[in-house]
Amino acid sequence: VWVNCLSFIQDNITPQAYKTWFEPIKAVKLTDNALSIQVPSKFFYEWLEEHYVKLLKVSLTRELGENAKLVYVIRMENTYGNKQPFTEKIPSSQRTQISSQDIDSPLRNKSPELKNPFIIPGIRNVKIDSQLNPNYSFDNFLEGDSNRLARNAGMAVSNKPGGTSFNPLLIFGGVGLGKTHLAHAIGVEVKDKYPEKTVLYISAEKFTQQYIESVKKNNRNDFIHFYQIIDVLIVDDIQLLSGKAGTQDVFFHIFNHLHQNGKQVILTSDKAPVDMQDIEQRLLSRFKWGLSAELQHPDFETRVSIIKNKLYRDGVEMPEDIVEYLANNIKTNIRELEGAIISLIAHSSFNKKDITIDLARKIVENYVKNTKKEVSIEYIQKVVSDYFQMDVETLQSKTRKRHIVQARQLAMFFAKKLTKASLASIGTQIGKRDHATVLHACKTVNNLSTTDKQFKKFVEDLNKKLTL
Ligand code: ADP
Ligand code: MG
Repeated sequence: VWVNCLSFIQDNITPQAYKTWFEPIKAVKLTDNALSIQVPSKFFYEWLEEHYVKLLKVSLTRELGENAKLVYVIRMENTYGNKQPFTEKIPSSQRTQISSQDIDSPLRNKSPELKNPFIIPGIRNVKIDSQLNPNYSFDNFLEGDSNRLARNAGMAVSNKPGGTSFNPLLIFGGVGLGKTHLAHAIGVEVKDKYPEKTVLYISAEKFTQQYIESVKKNNRNDFIHFYQIIDVLIVDDIQLLSGKAGTQDVFFHIFNHLHQNGKQVILTSDKAPVDMQDIEQRLLSRFKWGLSAELQHPDFETRVSIIKNKLYRDGVEMPEDIVEYLANNIKTNIRELEGAIISLIAHSSFNKKDITIDLARKIVENYVKNTKKEVSIEYIQKVVSDYFQMDVETLQSKTRKRHIVQARQLAMFFAKKLTKASLASIGTQIGKRDHATVLHACKTVNNLSTTDKQFKKFVEDLNKKLTL
């Protein structure tokens, strides 16, 4: 069915657009009148929905009749990234005439062990799907001053997992700087060199969910045993354990067991260990046992090579001055750099225009505009106290004066809304309160803003100031 659709589509769009947007799609499942196709990213899905939905509908209706349905399955980020280790179903949006339907992710079927990894321990020679993304290799993790230490340490670890002093290896750095990529690359390389070793990549978020689940089902011990048989354990975004005492405790035991048995642990975090909030001291001190290597912002040369490498892999050519324009204007996030390249190629192929500086400028503008910077809790406190003309110490103080309490509650509310910090962590940072106080603050603000006009105005004003 899909092959027929493709040939119809191919006849109706430019070869470049076809190559960019349709060749990477895989048909994964067909049931009655619903075809599931797998696309490489969420961006891809959105693009298809925006530009090719009619074409898709026509081609599919020709094959499957009036009731044809299309289901998108998104790969990559969602399969291997932090949010959800399994393929995610995204229903096509309302705009489209083609309706969507839930399907079981094919990956889930392929690796039943991982669906409930802690149910099968104890059996020897368990095969564990390592959850590694083979596209994240050392080969396409370009070296530069910004990542040399981390990259080389990663290589050393993959040559001798557990056998270097880099245990654990903690890779830290800001958003989009390659932590997840490098962590996968180490795992992929270990698997390549030592196929018999058990490697597992897991996000801290997923780890937490599994743990909670195991407690509910009364098999916490199975959960622990499962992790103890792993040779190379990679936990991504370990800062997400912040404020989660139970998960930290269980991770502590797993960590100790692995470490004592010469197994390798690799961790990533968006902060250096000293800046991690609400992580138990005994864990923090262990994070520092090995090597903490930072991924810094890539310098100009490295940005240029990353762009060129990406273009080369996609088989696209781009004039040198545009490559440099991009490298000069998107500096602090490699993921955004890649996103800009994809949109640039897409725009030019869709509108049958050459890639020009003007086009590049427009796209970069969109990127800069669309990317909301994450605000810090410090900044929120500053903005809120300025707004109410008090200083931050007053805002944090123990006083019960109504207007100060309100200001403090607003700061807590916005900290919860605009940052990823946990309730506990917000409480600690805003005048050493506990998580219940923060929760109460959020509820109060929600209530007041529906009942009190003046207060509602505060919320709106502050929201504007903070998100602009
Ligand atoms: P993080 O986990 O730090 O937020 P990711 O690992 O998801 O960042 O990286 C974001 C994107 O940038 C990925 O597509 C990754 O392949 C790419 N990237 C990061 N560093 C490099 C590098 N040194 N060379 C090539 N691509 C890179
Ligand atoms: Mg990441």
